[in-house]
Amino acid sequence: MFVVLWAAVLTLASCAQDAPPLPSAIERIVRDHVASLISEDFQDLSGLTLEYRPVVESSDTVFFETYVKTSTILRHPRRRTYQLFVNPRLAVDFPGHEAVRAILAHELFHIRDYLGKNAWQLYRLKRNYEDETFRQQYERHTDQRTLRLGYGPGLIRYRQWLYGAIGDPDKIRYKKQMYMTPEEIQSWLARQQR
Ligand SMILES: [Zn+2]
Repeated sequence: MFVVLWAAVLTLASCAQDAPPLPSAIERIVRDHVASLISEDFQDLSGLTLEYRPVVESSDTVFFETYVKTSTILRHPRRRTYQLFVNPRLAVDFPGHEAVRAILAHELFHIRDYLGKNAWQLYRLKRNYEDETFRQQYERHTDQRTLRLGYGPGLIRYRQWLYGAIGDPDKIRYKKQMYMTPEEIQSWLARQQR
């Protein structure tokens, strides 16, 4: 039994090692955009510890994702480590700087939300996020905050690129349901200009 368990542990450990690392060129691009976004639009996030990690799960559909590092969740919000997961596939299929900047602004709004929550509130957010109706409202609200900062054109480019990168029609349909589509962003922008 012990041997079997130990073998399972070793297998898990080697799987983790097999995860493709985040290519340094992509990490540099993302870091640079995050640094300039923080200095321009997210000064409240300045001084936080951010960790850049490769997306491992759902890497066919997830390109950027933000979390609080679990082991730091009980700390004062400003002393936690915030993790930005980035898909290594971006090294071979890159949506362009404008698109990357827009989606990173969306992700930084999530970090701003986490910063305003204690451990119990973060746990509740994680639980609520499992509910699709909540998730849809939360993600679309985050998109709208991103648009208000002026990143609409970039977000349109990102979503257009995303649908092409995903390919699978069912998974694209799901993304269109959860997040604003290029058409919806376009009409949101048109409404603001009236
Ligand atoms: Zn989001």
